[in-house]
Amino acid sequence: MKVSVDQSVCREYANCIVEAPDVFDLEEDSGKVVALVVEPDPAQFDEVHAAAAACPVRAITLHE
Ligand code: SF4
Repeated sequence: MKVSVDQSVCREYANCIVEAPDVFDLEEDSGKVVALVVEPDPAQFDEVHAAAAACPVRAITLHE
């Protein structure tokens, strides 16, 4: 799995960070989401899926 984020649509709700704090964070300067891990470990798949589903603006795309 690969994770990509679209900062142009991120509205900084931080739902993704609540679901997967090891994978997503907000960039200090822009306040927009960043993927800390682009290729998550299989053990992180559930939380990454939950994070993508929790994003109200669908800023997170998972390439399976
Ligand atoms: S949940 Fe979506 S809008 Fe909110 S910080 Fe994460 S990527 Fe951005």
